[in-house]
Parts: sequence; structure tokens; C-alpha cells
Amino acid sequence: MIGCTCDTCRSTDPRDRRLRPSIYLDVPGRARILVDTSTDLRQQALTAGIARVDALVYTHGHADHILGLDEMRRFNMLQGGTIPCYADAPTWKTLKRAFFYVFDGVARQGGGVPQLDECEIVGPFAIEGVRVLPVPLLHGRLPILGFRFGTFAYLTDCSAIPDDSWPLLEGADTIVIDALRDKPHPTHFNVAQALDAVARIAPRRAYFTHMAHDLPHAATCARLPRGVELAYDGLIVDVDVDAA
Ligand SMILES: [Zn+2]
Ligand SMILES: [Zn+2]
Ligand SMILES: [Zn+2]
Repeated sequence: MIGCTCDTCRSTDPRDRRLRPSIYLDVPGRARILVDTSTDLRQQALTAGIARVDALVYTHGHADHILGLDEMRRFNMLQGGTIPCYADAPTWKTLKRAFFYVFDGVARQGGGVPQLDECEIVGPFAIEGVRVLPVPLLHGRLPILGFRFGTFAYLTDCSAIPDDSWPLLEGADTIVIDALRDKPHPTHFNVAQALDAVARIAPRRAYFTHMAHDLPHAATCARLPRGVELAYDGLIVDVDVDAA
């Protein structure tokens, strides 16, 4: 946190240096899928050596999840051609307002805007033979999307899992789920709520994401139950996706 001198913000543990939330799914021979364009996308792509994005998928339109969208033009240059971009209707509305110059169809001097194909999420879909199942979540009062890819589920930015979404999470082996801090928060699960959700989904392993500086990495992991830990920037996990 800018200007903060707490133990987490001054920590020398690299796992306490957190950029904004995003994941990159690399399915060999099929597709490389980026979920959200975080404010820190440029730095994340440079650090992780990401050189290709076959499709972009959005969870919701909050600033920390969309503000790196302009970086997508570099992938257009590297790959040639437009990149399919999947989001629900409210998120598309936000993207078009926040990035009017990308989507207004007006040619600009110098060119340089991302070339993205608008794809509206209305149900399960496929990216280059990879099945993607949207999982509706509640982020405070805002309906947003988690995603299930095979036995893996990504559930960032949620404060409740609606009744109809629990069946979509059955049989998940690996999940990433929002856990902001210990104190309750109106739009994010706290640790206790995230642990309740993990217990109900019962995956083999769960990773917490979107932590605030209230949760230092090592000390928090030490008090979590077996199979649950904090994710960290650069974490790589092997998962099984479904063919579409
Ligand atoms: Zn701090
Ligand atoms: Zn959010
Ligand atoms: Zn967020």
C-alpha cells in the first residue's frame, strides 16, 4: 500500500510484494488465456515472460482488473490480428466507457490502440478448444463472474456465492478464491468466510487471492488449514482443463 510502513509493506519476503490480481492460463497446443488486464499487466507480462494472449476474459469492470487493457496492443503487434475479448454485458459497458478510444471505431493518428473482438458472455463458451464455464458470484451487490476451467476454478472478488453457483463448483480440485483480510468487508470474503466456502467446495487445494496488507504471507499461511495457502505473484499451478 502506498505510503504504508506496516510489517507486510516493509517485508523482504518476495511473496509480500503483490501486484493487482490476474491469472494466465497456458494450455499447451491450444490456447493462452489471460483473465483480467490488471493495472500492473505490463510488469506482470515482463516478469512472467508472457509473449502471447489468444483470448482475454474479464471477471468484472473494477479498475484493478481492467486498467491494463491498453497493454493488449503489444500482443496485437506480436501476434498480428485481433484478440477475442470475453466479458458480460455490464463489464462491456464499463470497458467501453473507461477505454472509449479503443472501442469507438474512430481511427486515431499513429494507430496504436488495442484490437479486441467484442464477445459477450451469456453462458459457457470455448476458447480454441478449451471449455470455459462462467460461475456467477456476488461482489457486494455487484454480480460478477468467476470461471471454471475443468477442475480448476478462479473466484476472485466475491463476498457471496449464489445458490445456483454451488453446483457449478462441484468436483473442483484446485480453486483460487478471494480472501481480503480477517475483518469483514462489504464486497470481499474475509478469511473466515473464504475458509467456509473452501470447506463447502472441498477442493484438494485452495489458494487465497486479493489479500490486503493485513495478511502477511508467511504468518497467514502458518495458521491456515492443510491444503489452503495464500497465492503469491508468480505462483504456477498445474491444473486440468476440459476440452470443448
Ligand atoms: Zn501496509
Ligand atoms: Zn472488484
Ligand atoms: Zn479486485
